[in-house]
Amino acid sequence: MAEGISRRHFLWGSAASVALLASNQAHGAVIPAVPMEPWQRGFLDIHHISTGRGNSVLAICPDGTSIMVDAGATKGPTDALGPARPDASRRPGEWIGRYALHHLRTAPKRELDYFVLTHFHGDHMGEITADSPVSSKGDYRLSGVADVAELIPVRQLIDRGYPSYDYPAPATYDATLNYIRFARAAEKHGTKVARLQVGSSRQLAPQHAPAECASFAIRNLAANGDVWTGQGEDVKHLFPPLSTLKPQEYPTENACSMALKFSYGAFSYYIGGDLTCDTLFGTEPWMDAESAVAKVAGPVNVAAVDHHGYYDATGPEFVRAMRSRIYVIQTWHATHPALQVLDRLYSPILYPGDRDVLATGMVPAAALADARLSDRMLSQQGHVVVRVLPGGDQYEVIVQDDTVEEGKVKARFGPYAA
Ligand SMILES: [Zn+2]
Repeated sequence: MAEGISRRHFLWGSAASVALLASNQAHGAVIPAVPMEPWQRGFLDIHHISTGRGNSVLAICPDGTSIMVDAGATKGPTDALGPARPDASRRPGEWIGRYALHHLRTAPKRELDYFVLTHFHGDHMGEITADSPVSSKGDYRLSGVADVAELIPVRQLIDRGYPSYDYPAPATYDATLNYIRFARAAEKHGTKVARLQVGSSRQLAPQHAPAECASFAIRNLAANGDVWTGQGEDVKHLFPPLSTLKPQEYPTENACSMALKFSYGAFSYYIGGDLTCDTLFGTEPWMDAESAVAKVAGPVNVAAVDHHGYYDATGPEFVRAMRSRIYVIQTWHATHPALQVLDRLYSPILYPGDRDVLATGMVPAAALADARLSDRMLSQQGHVVVRVLPGGDQYEVIVQDDTVEEGKVKARFGPYAA
């Protein structure tokens, strides 16, 4: 049985995946698996890239507009992490940049129309060490997004802080300061840098053939505690005025994460960085930005699970509102996902009906700790690609091997109806 593919879902896979896995099982050896077919016009491909060191999503929109959300590079190795993927010979951001170049080979341009950073944590933008090389383009070190931009041009860079980078307080984290130096240098070299406009469905827009994908749109749902109301481009603010809080009570970096919703015809997809639902045991209800965002985002067909499935996120209100058919968890640490998160994701009390859960990189310790539910997961290891077919009525889910750079197909599921 292929690594991380459960027997139950092995039986439920599409004919192609059943044939692939049956052949694998029969011979007990690695079969000559094929790479996934490249993107073509009309597809919306959403790649959850597995490096074992943080989050990164590459979306190739129906007209070929490319959007990367995050490019993490957390420090390793530690006992809590699994192996770097494909291996440790390159930094995670280099692998991500090369992955994007490969999968954009059939797009109109091999560049990123947008890089969107959900929030300022190293597993989303890149941590730095004394060994991180200095860029030739500015006074910043190469890690995460800076490594990506070294390999592939970025036309627009969107984050939650530009230009002042001072909400809720000026940055002090070395990785954030490095990112800000990177953003300033990118701006000097012609990249448009902007803060996410919450509520807008026009800031992230098709760049190559908008007339061909009139049913495709991206709605900016949240950032910095601002949440779209569902009406026009109106926004409400969740957090109390900072003047009423002590600095140690300020909204956390995770709570300030941005969230986006992609729509294509009947299909919809949610991604919300590291939003959390923790309220300090009910004492600070305003801290639960996740539930407020989920209520305006859901329901969707596919949801990226907030905060890696960590114990303080993916709360019952998130699951109830999302009612998603597919959940993708970007996991790479022994605490990802928490057992109670899987319990919520599979709960028929929160909503009825089938749903499938896939993770990008489940560390063995996490699979053991979650054993009561982890064997129900469709996949526990590999790049998870959601491919929405032209028009948005149907989509499939493809798992690619993350131990080889070309990413051979391990399994595919669907098609699902949107
Ligand atoms: Zn994170």
